Amino acid sequence: MIKIFKFGGASVKDAESVKNVASIIARFKGEDKLLCVVSAMGKTTNALEEVVKQAITSEGKNLDKLEEVKRFHREIIEGLFPEDKAVEVWEELDEVFTEVEVFAGSESANEYNFLYDQIVSAGELLSTKIVARYLQHIGVQAIFKDARGLIRTDNTYREGRVNWTVTKVLVEKNVVPVISDGNDKIIITQGFIGRSNEGSSVTLGREGSDYSAAIFAHTLDAQEVTIWKDVPGVLNADPKRFPEAQLFNRLSYTDAIELAYYGATVIHPKTIKPLQNKNITLRVRSFIHPDAAGTEVTSMETFGLLPAFIFKDNQALISISPKDFSFIAEDNLSYIFTLLANTRVKVNLMENSAIRFMVCVDNDAQKIPGIIQELEKDYHVTFSENLQLITIRNYNESVVDMLLRGKTLLTEQKSTQTVRLVVKI
Ligand code: ASP
Ligand code: MG
Repeated sequence: MIKIFKFGGASVKDAESVKNVASIIARFKGEDKLLCVVSAMGKTTNALEEVVKQAITSEGKNLDKLEEVKRFHREIIEGLFPEDKAVEVWEELDEVFTEVEVFAGSESANEYNFLYDQIVSAGELLSTKIVARYLQHIGVQAIFKDARGLIRTDNTYREGRVNWTVTKVLVEKNVVPVISDGNDKIIITQGFIGRSNEGSSVTLGREGSDYSAAIFAHTLDAQEVTIWKDVPGVLNADPKRFPEAQLFNRLSYTDAIELAYYGATVIHPKTIKPLQNKNITLRVRSFIHPDAAGTEVTSMETFGLLPAFIFKDNQALISISPKDFSFIAEDNLSYIFTLLANTRVKVNLMENSAIRFMVCVDNDAQKIPGIIQELEKDYHVTFSENLQLITIRNYNESVVDMLLRGKTLLTEQKSTQTVRLVVKI
């Protein structure tokens, strides 16, 4: 049986961390068949987003930002390989950079989402080329696979939807023969990217590498998936906000889905379902302490869980009432939801009364003003920003009181397990 490892950007942010990842992979080689999904190095995805913006504003003429990305990768290579080898690896990366430059200067630069995917997908290609070469350099039989030849999507650029049937065929054809002949080969492939029927690169949404790991696990009937992180596992709060956050040793798929859905950033929300459907165990472990067990996510129900805290900053409440004093009913709601869906705004929380409908959304400056303008044609709209959405799973009243101290509560929603609070700080 095969196991899937996923390494995020923080785990490959410099030469030292690449060495650490390689040592984790090397420990497991031979024991299990392995397919490793790797993200772009450090903050490369953000940097490439800047390249896209620059390509558009300068019509491909000014690409300083790409030079920074080149420098960053060159330094990592120099920290990993002897000089002559570094030159060889650089040549491979250079092909990726040349392609980025071609896209940046092409006519397609008017189609933002398309161009975004052609440029931003380079981050994962660069990182996996380096990781695969480094593993080979230290004697591990790493096989580089381009995930775009494995994961087939539609052409919803920046949020590709997976064609599971074709993906399964491609994975079976291209992955299974490599790892099934009793050798020590390890596959290194990219997270976050796939390819459309038309042959273009398509990304799966920011932080989508976890999801890629789940896609490979599902199609290969993997035994388990391990996401290697810079935290000990799934914690009951973000350790940057709560240094005393505690680790969940075990969670059920349902718990994990709920936590991810409400915004715990440790696992991408789309990751769990494909695993749950095939009962594939998910582990979240620390690449800093690779001997620690981390969190195990399975179908087993867990009882008496610690309260879990999830904070979302930069929230806005939009309150909507029909100008004609009609009630908020299906037709109004369907109009509002269509507007939100077409603009790809996700509703984090909603509430309705007879004459008012209220949504809490991420306050995205690119999207929200346009939505309000549109709504104001038929509705009275009020808007408040700089809010925080706090979700507490397994809450109790004293925890809620403690969290609300010094804050103004604007609205709250309670179920038996979960309370959600929109507050002004
Ligand atoms: N590199 C991509 C991102 O930062 C995908 C990932 O890291 O999961 O969004
Ligand atoms: Mg990343």
